[in-house]
Amino acid sequence: MSDTASNRPELPSEIARRRTFAIISHPDAGKTTLTEKFLLYGGAIQMAGQVRAKGEARRTRSDFMQMEKDRGISVSASAMSFDYGTFRFNLVDTPGHSDFSEDTYRTLTAVDAAVMVIDGAKGVESQTQKLFEVCRLRDLPILTFCNKMDRESRDIFDIIDEIQENLAIDVTPASWPIGVGRDFVGTYDILRDRLELMDRADRNKVAESIEINGLDDPKLAEHVPAHLLETFLEELEMARELLPALDRQALLDGTMTPIWFGSAINSFGVKELMDGIANFGPEPQIQVAQPRNIAPEEKKVTGFVFKVQANMDPKHRDRVAFVRMASGHFKRGMKLTHVRTKKLMTISNPVLFLASDRELAEEAWAGDIIGIPNHGQLRIGDTLTEGEALRVSGIPSFAPELLQSVRAGDPLKSKHLEKALMQFAEEGAAKVFKPSIGSGFIVGVVGPLQFEVLASRIEIEYGLPVRFEQSQFTSARWVAGDKQALDKFINANSQHIAHDHDGDIVYLTRMKWDIDRVERDYPDLKLTATKEMM
Ligand code: GDP
Repeated sequence: MSDTASNRPELPSEIARRRTFAIISHPDAGKTTLTEKFLLYGGAIQMAGQVRAKGEARRTRSDFMQMEKDRGISVSASAMSFDYGTFRFNLVDTPGHSDFSEDTYRTLTAVDAAVMVIDGAKGVESQTQKLFEVCRLRDLPILTFCNKMDRESRDIFDIIDEIQENLAIDVTPASWPIGVGRDFVGTYDILRDRLELMDRADRNKVAESIEINGLDDPKLAEHVPAHLLETFLEELEMARELLPALDRQALLDGTMTPIWFGSAINSFGVKELMDGIANFGPEPQIQVAQPRNIAPEEKKVTGFVFKVQANMDPKHRDRVAFVRMASGHFKRGMKLTHVRTKKLMTISNPVLFLASDRELAEEAWAGDIIGIPNHGQLRIGDTLTEGEALRVSGIPSFAPELLQSVRAGDPLKSKHLEKALMQFAEEGAAKVFKPSIGSGFIVGVVGPLQFEVLASRIEIEYGLPVRFEQSQFTSARWVAGDKQALDKFINANSQHIAHDHDGDIVYLTRMKWDIDRVERDYPDLKLTATKEMM
């Protein structure tokens, strides 16, 4: 692995060596398998030798889960840190269910890059497209891994075209596959002029790597079967002619994605991808905040909460807030200001999801993700600093697209239900609205599966069977404006008014037409479908 000179020389080396990223993909494309191989090649899994049986690799992954259990929390592998060569990788998990949720969006606010995994037989699928668009909103750099090359795949130029067209991003091949399906023998590493040969007999073996001196090097013909060589050379020539060369700045700007071809299950192409993340992926980036942005190299520590996970242990109503460190060098026991409440918090038991040494680490640098156990003080969007009143911005809360009313199976337990709902609202798992007239709650989510997840969590975590039912409302908008206009609006529309868990006013309705009418009749009010969390 060669180190590339930092494009931000002002970064201390501890920060410059960090790569914080998420994997985005359509279900089944191979995200889990790739994650396992990352852990295997990273320091996360202590390897006795180079080779490991598949079963063993699986066991090691569940060890990791066991470790979480031993610590009394289950983070469901929300964040994993491991060393790769001289680099520290922080891999943040995007929620696995196929519903697009705000959770996914917020996870992507905590990373500096995304690895997009696509299935070579399928190309860009619907979920990839959606997630990609979310990355686009933030100009997140994207590295692409085209997986399952050991099986029949689509034409490579077609796949590249599809990415360029559907996702409107330039694609540069970092490697080129040789042969397809059964005939797939490996790839040519375009960035380093090396031939990488896949060993079909041993899924965990690191590929054989052969240095090549120009395309007329006789070593090519020695290792590539004759019937594949000609096609490969033609394709490579065409690729070099038609496709742009890697431009790191364009990658960092999010306008170009390098693509690697491989087979995660055969551990093939994974190291090249990891080298790519290390050498070309972004270092910890500047964080957009108010009233000023935060640079990672600043001496003072800042961080922000992008995810809250509650009820890891149903007996204790504790939560873990996942904090992305935005600047500085954090040390355990530090006192940080919780900017929203202006209170000092001593961070005495932060959790670092270090998979390699399995111990609570005592420090963290900008780019790292730490978990802070707390009793509910920390909410999504909160910023922690060494005193300055900074607020990280850009962590949105979306208006839910689906609304249902919820009722406790046992009417006497409605206080319990309220508590459970508020907890989920603070966790960011759902929107909870309390209508100003009548009793009960309206719950809003972005994907339909979330109602089922909520119902089962309320039952498991609170011992409370609940029923979700059709609500009379289908849309929600936050309403803001000066007090006089607001009061007038509320009085005239009391049937439609509710409050969210922060006490902010929400307008609920059945018809899009209603929203247009309000906007027309109350020009002084602002109706919004997102609310910035703070
Ligand atoms: P996820 O849903 O994206 O996390 O996908 P998984 O990692 O669970 O993989 C989905 C399926 O594809 C599993 O059955 C894997 O064994 C299989 N798979 C993953 N990578 C490869 C690969 O490189 N080649 C082949 N043939 N199958 C793969």
